[in-house]
Amino acid sequence: MWGYTEQQKNKLKSIGVKKELLERKFESIMERELTYSEILKNYSEQIKIKLNNKKFNSLRQVEDIIRKKLLELGFIEVITPTLVSRNSIIKMGISESDPLWDQIYWLDNHSKCLRPMLAPNLYVLMNRLKNFIQNVKIFEMGSCFRKERGRKHLTEFTMCNAVIYPPPKHPRDELNELVEELMKALNINEYKIVDESSSIYGKTVDIVSKGIEIASCVIGPVDIDANWKIDHPWVGIGLGLERLLMVINNSEKISEYSRSLDYLDGIYIGGV
Ligand code: ATP
Ligand code: MG
Repeated sequence: MWGYTEQQKNKLKSIGVKKELLERKFESIMERELTYSEILKNYSEQIKIKLNNKKFNSLRQVEDIIRKKLLELGFIEVITPTLVSRNSIIKMGISESDPLWDQIYWLDNHSKCLRPMLAPNLYVLMNRLKNFIQNVKIFEMGSCFRKERGRKHLTEFTMCNAVIYPPPKHPRDELNELVEELMKALNINEYKIVDESSSIYGKTVDIVSKGIEIASCVIGPVDIDANWKIDHPWVGIGLGLERLLMVINNSEKISEYSRSLDYLDGIYIGGV
């Protein structure tokens, strides 16, 4: 029986072939060489197809699906600064002793940071827009930054945060409806709504699909509302767009669908 040579293994590893497949045994050297060249050919074909295919990047597609649905449901899209102040973080209930503090990318002597979440800016807008609209429905989509890595965590990821302040109907019903509409639009049929706890909000509700947390939802009022002069019930959902892509594409590695120099829309190009 024959296995791949070390050189072949390194090449296969570099184009993203799974570990267990690297240990494959062959009846003859010829069979091995044929398989090896077939894998390389498929790999470059896949990249070529992707490059010839004029469709948008999936991350952008998911963004578009969510945007279309939220606009249809009467939400207004907002675009707020990526840099947020230290005070905003403190008003979110995250103090220097909190482990979340160390996950933040601080800038300019801890006076500001790359936003780890969209909520602080949305809190400000909820309060401001309440003077003009009876039921504020806004959403933002954009990069958030946290010092965490792994198969489900990126240092830069795309969050979509939508809030209703105050919800016209019963908050829980309003949230359930919103989740249902979004999941339907994304074609995610199998998901669970799970009660969770969060150090920031207290009680939260997570949306879990294929064992992956794809979103966290809050039903306000919560303690930190007072820091933002929010004094009515509200509901909010924070979706992770790359996590949604993991679920949609049955991916086990979030980096495949992230902002990346190594992956082109799920296809590894780092080995070329
Ligand atoms: P987790 O427990 O998985 O670390 P979280 O509860 O800290 O996530 P939230 O603050 O609830 O995350 O953020 C809302 C959503 O943003 C999450 O449900 C997830 O889909 C996504 N998300 C959070 N952190 C990351 C990350 N580091 N990389 C990619 N997506 C993330
Ligand atoms: Mg969460």
